[in-house]
Amino acid sequence: KEEEVATIQILMSDTGGGHRASANALRDAFNVLHETEPHRFPMRIECDIVDIYTDYGPFWPINAYVPLYKFMAEYSFLWKWFYEFGATELGLWMNDFLLELFCFEAFERCLRRDPLANSRAGDGVEGGANAVRADMVVSVHPLCQDLPLKILASLDTDGRSRTEGRVTPFATVVTDLGGAHPTWFNKGVDKCFVPSTVLKNAALQRQVQESQIVQYGLPIRRGFWRFGADYNQSSSSSSNDDAEQKPKPFWQFGKKTKKQPADDIQMEEKGMHHKPTIRDSLGLLDLPTVLIVGGGDGMGGIVNQATAVGERLQSLAAKRNDSSSNNNDPMYQMVVICGNNKSAQIALSPPQTNWGSNVAVNVKGFVNNMDEFMRSSDILVTKAGPGTIAEASICGLPCILSSFLPGQEEGNVPYVEENGFGCYKGTPEGIADTVEEWLSVSSVTTEGTILETMRECALNAARPDATLDIARDLADMVYTRKEELKRKGVEKKVNEVAVAA
Ligand code: UDP
Repeated sequence: KEEEVATIQILMSDTGGGHRASANALRDAFNVLHETEPHRFPMRIECDIVDIYTDYGPFWPINAYVPLYKFMAEYSFLWKWFYEFGATELGLWMNDFLLELFCFEAFERCLRRDPLANSRAGDGVEGGANAVRADMVVSVHPLCQDLPLKILASLDTDGRSRTEGRVTPFATVVTDLGGAHPTWFNKGVDKCFVPSTVLKNAALQRQVQESQIVQYGLPIRRGFWRFGADYNQSSSSSSNDDAEQKPKPFWQFGKKTKKQPADDIQMEEKGMHHKPTIRDSLGLLDLPTVLIVGGGDGMGGIVNQATAVGERLQSLAAKRNDSSSNNNDPMYQMVVICGNNKSAQIALSPPQTNWGSNVAVNVKGFVNNMDEFMRSSDILVTKAGPGTIAEASICGLPCILSSFLPGQEEGNVPYVEENGFGCYKGTPEGIADTVEEWLSVSSVTTEGTILETMRECALNAARPDATLDIARDLADMVYTRKEELKRKGVEKKVNEVAVAA
């Protein structure tokens, strides 16, 4: 018997790494739900993730949003203008009008495409004789609401059916955090998933009704879910006893142990958060560690930031050397993850840069285990990317935000500051000062160290269950639709029998 499969088309564009990352996270979550909760989610869900602008945009510049976004992100004044104009009534109207004028047919082809084309022999992606379009559509991109909704309404209202308007379920999953462009919000959607109260209010302002809005958190990759990582592997390899036998690091002397959230303790018991173990497995030293990242593309000036932080760590080590015995052992550690920014990786690696012996420096390109690097670190320096911030929060990692894209990332700065797990420093010097302050022994307060207090705040703001929660709701929606389609199929057969009789 053929396996029954529900299909979801996920619309996005690769403008920044976050949209595809969220789409992939949802796809993984559907698979996990099907495996781990088979009674509730008996049907496999197949996702068709498509960069609708790159793959279906009819001509330049519509099919070049990805390189254009990269370009504008480098020259942020351009991006600011584009973003702010796009948020005015005129900008919104123009966007709507031009997209409908030029992209309706092309995007219609996309929405008609069969997510199971590969397994239905003989049919092309865009509709052979047996092609069936997705049972449901989900958008994880600000520019994938208005036109797809119109197209679905027209596809659903064809001559053969008596439906008027859209019946294919449609949901938006917002992948921004502290601020979002108005195009994210369309009051015609069935559900709008928002990660924060600020964005819930933004949705309400755009006439999305309370009943349509669901607030769980940002969908992020499996390694950051509660018990989502390779938890069996890590649990066998370590225990907290090891940690107790080790001397306390210098910055923890003389302070009382703070209570950790229950879930965190549970995870640590499983070895997931055991810093020395994870450091060891990554080939890192067990030292105070600063992690520097710049989103998927290594943007935001990471070379200058890493240089300033590296030099500051050297001078901190030199000061400690003055007051104790002189030695050449590393005392601090810095990990720089350059993502796709190859030139930054080359510039920061030897022989281009030579870091002194008292600071252990690791420079990486794109890594697929960001969760492990975050769990190995004490401080994160990052541009204000929503994905990175949400991930850091789950890892209890205090953040220094080094830059933000005007518009959509601007709101992430108050999000971090108000939640108490970081601050914004716009210059390499300011970042180095803050690293020094946070690492310094004198930053021990009556509440604990600054880093510890911020770690707790980060964990309080964390939403490690968001991805699975969103996926459960979406799965329920697509299952309901599937049932509806089945009933219709049955009705059709009954009618056919009646006519034949
Ligand atoms: N990322 C990664 N490996 C890298 C660099 C970044 O997996 O080497 C991930 C990071 O963990 C985050 C995403 O890329 O999930 C970046 O998303 P964010 O929203 O922070 O910034 P964007 O790249 O979308 O501007």
